[in-house]
Amino acid sequence: MNVARIVMKAAIALLFLLVGSNAPYLSLSQSESVPTQVELCGVKLRPKVVEIVDQIEHYYKEPVQCELANLDDKGEAGYADATHGIPKIYVDTFTGRQELTIAHELLHIWLGIHGFATNPHVSFDKPNEIDGTRFRSALNIIYSDLQHRLIMIKLRAMGFDPDARFLRLCIEMMKSKPVFD
Ligand SMILES: [Zn+2]
Repeated sequence: MNVARIVMKAAIALLFLLVGSNAPYLSLSQSESVPTQVELCGVKLRPKVVEIVDQIEHYYKEPVQCELANLDDKGEAGYADATHGIPKIYVDTFTGRQELTIAHELLHIWLGIHGFATNPHVSFDKPNEIDGTRFRSALNIIYSDLQHRLIMIKLRAMGFDPDARFLRLCIEMMKSKPVFD
């Protein structure tokens, strides 16, 4: 028996020994520390996004649903809806099928479960001289801005760079059209 064979047999014996029930660190690494891969609309999610999914599902007692839709015509990459008690996000088939968009839409629902109203309701009457449609529109702008500021902070904390797309768009616009003629 040459040395290589002895080493191989010893390695196999050691492997059997480690895989046995008296090797808790191995069984732990195989059964407990490997997280299940979570996907929404076919996009794999990082653990920090999975935490958000878990919190939403815990709150609604329903699995988060994701649906591909045609939203790009409206200039949207996605939107979220949990008004019927089922947490659901819609993402554009082409532009929205990415982790950042999915995390963004999930955070809209997540803010709702943390006390941020999913629809802006006002408990005071608007002054009569102010047009109702304009009043509502102004309210939506302020509400959306507040909500997105919170979402951007959370996205950055989760390791995303939510500004990259806007920066890229700005650079593209500046390249295609001179700012000063
Ligand atoms: Zn949004």
